[in-house]
Amino acid sequence: MFRTLKTSIGLVIALSMSLLIISVTMVNKLESSESAVKVVKDNTTTLSNVLALQLSLMMERNPGDDALLSSLFQPIKEHKHLLSAVLYDNNYKVITAIQPERVLEISDASVPKSPENVPFGVTQYDNIIAAHQIVGSSLYPMGHIVIYIDISNVPTINNTRQLLKQAPVLLALWVLCTGVCMFILYRLVSSLASLSRFTQNVYETNDYALRSSISSTNEIGKIACNINSLLDAIEVELLVNFEQKQTLVDQQETMSRLANFDSLTGLPNRQFVLDNLKLELARAKRNDEDITLLFFDLDGFKGVNDSLGHEIGDLILIEVADRVQRLLRDGDLFARLGGDEFLILPDRDITTDHAKSLATRLITASNEPFELRGLSLTVGLSVGVATASDAGYDLSELMSNADLAMYRSKARGRGSYTLFTPDMVESHKRKLHIANGIEQAVANDEFVVYYQVKVNNDGTVIGTEALIRWQHPEFGLVMPNEFIPIAEQGGKITAITRWVINRVCMDMPDLKHWASGPFRASINLSGHDLRNNQLFDYIYNTFMLYDVNPENIEFEVTESAYLENFSLSNKFFRRIGNMGCAIALDDFGTGYSSLSYLTQINVDTLKVDRQFVMEIQSSERGRLVTGAILDLAKRLSLSVCAEGIENLEQWSYLKKHGCDNVQGFMFSKPVPINKLMNSPLQYHSEQFA
Ligand code: C2E
Ligand code: CA
Ligand code: CA
Repeated sequence: MFRTLKTSIGLVIALSMSLLIISVTMVNKLESSESAVKVVKDNTTTLSNVLALQLSLMMERNPGDDALLSSLFQPIKEHKHLLSAVLYDNNYKVITAIQPERVLEISDASVPKSPENVPFGVTQYDNIIAAHQIVGSSLYPMGHIVIYIDISNVPTINNTRQLLKQAPVLLALWVLCTGVCMFILYRLVSSLASLSRFTQNVYETNDYALRSSISSTNEIGKIACNINSLLDAIEVELLVNFEQKQTLVDQQETMSRLANFDSLTGLPNRQFVLDNLKLELARAKRNDEDITLLFFDLDGFKGVNDSLGHEIGDLILIEVADRVQRLLRDGDLFARLGGDEFLILPDRDITTDHAKSLATRLITASNEPFELRGLSLTVGLSVGVATASDAGYDLSELMSNADLAMYRSKARGRGSYTLFTPDMVESHKRKLHIANGIEQAVANDEFVVYYQVKVNNDGTVIGTEALIRWQHPEFGLVMPNEFIPIAEQGGKITAITRWVINRVCMDMPDLKHWASGPFRASINLSGHDLRNNQLFDYIYNTFMLYDVNPENIEFEVTESAYLENFSLSNKFFRRIGNMGCAIALDDFGTGYSSLSYLTQINVDTLKVDRQFVMEIQSSERGRLVTGAILDLAKRLSLSVCAEGIENLEQWSYLKKHGCDNVQGFMFSKPVPINKLMNSPLQYHSEQFA
């Protein structure tokens, strides 16, 4: 009923108007009833006065004539509101009375009931007017009149009638006032209602671009204006919110991409593939299935990066990713683990044969040259294949097995694949053990230098090559082919090189004493040594320390090590050469095919690799290559030392073709110095015949 403001205020107005009119009428009525009572009171005063005067005259003239007094007194019973009237003598003895018993019916206690107590004159009580008048004068009273008038029923007939007369006017007034008020109210409230409809509309449509058209200057207009301002603010906020939300969504996408995908190739990244692999392993273990994964990296990628720059390196990685992707089926997981390392997790439980064929296809795909920025590059792959069952379904073990297999491929000469076998773990452990033990071994002097003699064409010992061995506390005698590459990888080769230099310098007095003629002890240097700026100073200081003549020392370095650090090597060997040491190019013929560099480097001797010496007897090619090397050396005025001579035929051939010096098991294996001291200084062909 009071749901609208209009109804409520309308009702309030109607009620107020009614109340107003009623109260006006009531006041009016009260006033008129009061005036009626006043008339009655005045009448009573007059009546009692007149009666008292008449009665006093009568009593004076006819004393003791009570009947006459009564006849004069009785007519007042006609008085409309008379309750009771009594005429008393001086001693308040009743002379005549009209309804005296009714006095006792008066319930109002304040009205005195005995005549002596009624005050003189006219007294008005709530519903009673009591008049006490002395008959005669107050000095000579002859009697008392006591009259009680009932004013409770004093008629207001006049007022009611008047009210009835006024009713149409009042009604008209009520209708008019209420109507006018309602009209003004409705006018005011109608804009409020339209505002309400407007806000409802905004709420229902969510259209915050809507604006209220109310333009009045009153409070409602102000509210409308404020609502419009609020909507402006909401619209701006919504816009900002929308933009922020969009940014957040974008950021979330980017973050998830960054977290799970490699930005260069777009392939899943290490994190992603490892998370997946973990789940796959758990599933495979539950179902008693196997998982095979292929792990590969690019051969010589570091070299490409270093020599051609990271940009080309990146392009190669992208191209590799593309080529490999084309070989895979939907569902195969292919990820870049980082750097040049990739992993393939084939979709289903594949057999070893499938894995092998996939590995072969990977290698074949990489054999095709990469045409990048006008360059044609060939980058091989080395693949390792491992299975979950071999790794006991352990993620890190599986990854490490695949890694081991991959490194085995690399060691085997790259561009190949290897299936993991459990023995690789052992060999890896040994490798780790060796790598971790090198520093300690240097400190504990666990290394030993063996010497292998070099002889000239007359069979006379002209020098020895110092070849290191490790007397390992656990593994026994460990050969340099095993621990030197590990030391090189672990950056620990310099300590070994220094140890050997030191050892040979310490042995030099004995060696010289034993050889008694012209003599050189050869020391092998690693490619890593050539990058070390302090090596020359170390050599110099050690020579000084042990008083070693540099002319008794030769340094051997492989051609690949020399050429990898060409300018550094050149500088280093120039200083070494200037000091008086000789320089030999080791394993000659196995590394670089270009010979043009030979004119630019500081070497005295070419060491023909054992591989060619071995082939002298078995192949024409071997003989040709060895002959060509010897010929070339002569042309460049370099001396030649051939290694790996195991029989007389090889020595004879080499001697015949101009080889200067030789070394090989035929003369002596590498031996410890004490054994060397007891070995011959002169060999004859006849003793080998
Ligand atoms: P390398 O410098 O080419 O040394 C010659 C290797 O051929 C030696 O192996 C030697 O024992 C072996 N050899 C010599 N004559 C014959 C032969 O007639 N038949 C056969 N089958 N082998 C022969 P070793 O001592 O095992 O050394 C292997 C390699 O380890 C060396 O090859 C050298 O590259 C490296 N190495 C040895 N000692 C050192 C060292 O002190 N420092 C560095 N950086 N490398 C060293
Ligand atoms: Ca050597
Ligand atoms: Ca060699």
